[in-house]
Amino acid sequence: MSYIEPALFIFGLIVGSFLNVCIHRIPRGKSIVSPSSACPACNTPIKPWDNIPVLSYIILRGKCRKCGEGISIHYPTVELLNAALYWSVLNSFGIGWHLPVVLAFASAMVVITFIDLDFQVIPDVITLPGIIIGLISASFLLPDPFSLQTSALSLSIVGFKNSVTGLLLGGGLFYLIAVLSRGGMGGGDIKMMAMVGAFMGWKAVFLTTFIGSLTGSIVGISLMVFKGKGRKTKIPFGPFLALGSLITLFFGGEIIRWYFTF
Ligand SMILES: [Zn+2]
Repeated sequence: MSYIEPALFIFGLIVGSFLNVCIHRIPRGKSIVSPSSACPACNTPIKPWDNIPVLSYIILRGKCRKCGEGISIHYPTVELLNAALYWSVLNSFGIGWHLPVVLAFASAMVVITFIDLDFQVIPDVITLPGIIIGLISASFLLPDPFSLQTSALSLSIVGFKNSVTGLLLGGGLFYLIAVLSRGGMGGGDIKMMAMVGAFMGWKAVFLTTFIGSLTGSIVGISLMVFKGKGRKTKIPFGPFLALGSLITLFFGGEIIRWYFTF
């Protein structure tokens, strides 16, 4: 094993720590660069040695050093999840100019998931630049996940046409669902799916929507059956679409080939 995998994993943890700042501050309309992190309960600034991804959480046993207030399990979860995704991106897509863009896409899906879980909103500051970056990078360097074979060498580029088609299909399809469901689907989902389409092309829109709806229905029905939640309980759709898009990113090619063998 080379040094690149563990280095990228640690980089993923550090970026994950920054994503936690984004997840906490973006929906509250606060700056993500200043001030430095503080305990949300007692406002004490967090010392650098108490701010090491995952490790500090374990050493502090999930409590603020100053006031003893519990630190959300979301923090180490986001860090570990992001690091695991970085590892997977490297293993699936290899090293190249596309790498930082695919890593950014994976991180954006993590941020969207946790903000939507907490606030039932998918912020434009992520999806709108995401659509532009997706369109530009898919035209020149982003590998098509559906061309993914056994080696990263066989990858072909998504391409401009496929990216534009994906953008319009993702946005259009979810705009239609929003209209038909009369507010059951938010504008954030529309822009998020335009972004997914821009990054991965039109096939990814269908597969992401399918996986998102399937997993969302399973979780929704389970909540109704086991927790007695009513039909009217709002479950954010963003986390399921994010899950669907990441499964599409890593396994889209295999899923399509497996499907067409039947
Ligand atoms: Zn505190």
